[in-house]
Amino acid sequence: MPEMLASYVAGSWYTAPDEGIVVVDAATGDAVARVSTTGLDTRAMVDHARHVGGPGLRRLTFQERAAALKELATYLDANKAAYHELSLATGATRRDATGDIDGGIGTTFVFASRGRRELPDGFILADGDVEPIGKGGTFVGRHVYTPLPGVAFQVNAFNFPVWGMLEKLAPAVLAGVPSIVKPATQTAYLTAAVMRDVIASGALPDGAVQFVCGGAGDLLDHLGGEDVIAFTGSATTAAVLRGSDAVTARAARFNAETDSLNCSILGPDATVGTPEFDLYVKELSREITTKAGQRCTCIRRALVPESIVDDVIAGVRARLDKVVVGNPRNDTVTMGALVSLHQRDEVRDAVAVLTRAAEVVYGNPMLVNPVDADPDRGAFMAPLVLLATGDRPEPHEVEAFGPVTTLIPYTAPDDLGALAARGGGSLVGSVVSDDPDFVRRVVTGLAPHHGRVLVLDRDSAGESTGHGTPMPQLVHGGPGRAGGGEELGGMRAVRHFMQRTALEGSPAVIAALAGGS
Ligand code: NAP
Repeated sequence: MPEMLASYVAGSWYTAPDEGIVVVDAATGDAVARVSTTGLDTRAMVDHARHVGGPGLRRLTFQERAAALKELATYLDANKAAYHELSLATGATRRDATGDIDGGIGTTFVFASRGRRELPDGFILADGDVEPIGKGGTFVGRHVYTPLPGVAFQVNAFNFPVWGMLEKLAPAVLAGVPSIVKPATQTAYLTAAVMRDVIASGALPDGAVQFVCGGAGDLLDHLGGEDVIAFTGSATTAAVLRGSDAVTARAARFNAETDSLNCSILGPDATVGTPEFDLYVKELSREITTKAGQRCTCIRRALVPESIVDDVIAGVRARLDKVVVGNPRNDTVTMGALVSLHQRDEVRDAVAVLTRAAEVVYGNPMLVNPVDADPDRGAFMAPLVLLATGDRPEPHEVEAFGPVTTLIPYTAPDDLGALAARGGGSLVGSVVSDDPDFVRRVVTGLAPHHGRVLVLDRDSAGESTGHGTPMPQLVHGGPGRAGGGEELGGMRAVRHFMQRTALEGSPAVIAALAGGS
């Protein structure tokens, strides 16, 4: 039997006594690890976070926490080769793993460095200027942030087992709030490997981080108004957590990053032969093949002028024809497996719904010839491009979380904001055009429905980080269907784990507590 993964509870590793569930390699179907949290003492975890982890972190100044984070990132960076090997079992290619592993460690470095530069060498964070209140100048106010006294329960999705953990952990550490990290069961073995090093590094105080490796059990029953639940995953699970007593009755803070029908718009100016046309085709092809399309930010809706649709199909076909699907351990492979056979079947089901409103113009959801792999044991799927055939709702509502996108022709550029908004709120939208007037009109319509908007043209392309990549400096999250949450965004992320308080008093008292005059 494969190894049972351990949870990290109140300063010790806990291994469940039962057989648990066996998690298998996405490409080969071979057993990788067992996962179970039977018997996990969730009450002890929350108590340990509140009484040991939180106080330990809050004894450190912001500057000391930033230094601890840098030490942690340096330690993980030195050990990352092992994570890369393990990541192949998730179905990710080596290139995919860079976004998850190096991206996660890089994000930790960015938070360490921004924290060192932007946070004070103290315990209270001022927000905005001193507000004069009394006419005589003896009574003023200033807003301040202090760490929440509870715990940050961080629940992550299967597709970013490393980045997903670190992008939440880093700002919580800077804020001075202890974390309980819960990865998705399917790829928990990779998060567990990194977590063992997080603990071994000794960079963080005792109790600053604990680990639930498997189901969360009754953990939510112990959370309330001092705590944060930071969730990434499906809208369905988000709805369950949002409806829990921890949130509805006891007012735990809840942040959700969920699924999203992200759009990318090609401008009418970007006809064949323009750099923007080439950029669009390249970006679209890359989006659906990176991590086999299993990124929450992937382009699901490609909004293209009706007059250029055939050219876009031809351009995408030429690129996708070069994609080699198969076992990511084979160096010729450019697109790996979906995370599990279950997930592949979910994607096929979603495609079946989408094809009520669209025709397949590239690929076949049921047909794949993976290199170096058995198509019955590995969760493979070939890239798939659909073309919407009418004005039905499915392409705007159904997320096929795999290498799938739907081209949606448009004829009225002025209606693009409304068309994009039919996704119900998205993480990211992009506009590919070299027409400043078109870009201005479209972005004004897009922004209220998106957490991030990328404008891609010949000038930005060289350094662009792409449609699908969230950056630690910029906010990640989106309204409505995307969860209504917000993460990252530099030091904004730190404040999500803190309480804002309006301090009132004499100028001298306020200056002593929060700085300013
Ligand atoms: P999921 O099934 O909702 O699971 C997400 C996480 O929630 C997992 O850790 C899961 O644990 C946990 N969970 C499930 N039920 C729970 C409960 N009752 N209490 C506490 N935790 C619970 O989503 P997924 O299939 O892993 O991820 C795919 C989805 O996530 C896609 O729809 C994608 O769009 C979305 N996503 C969004 C973002 C974003 O940033 N917005 C990023 C990545 C993915 P178990 O695995 O142990 O069940």
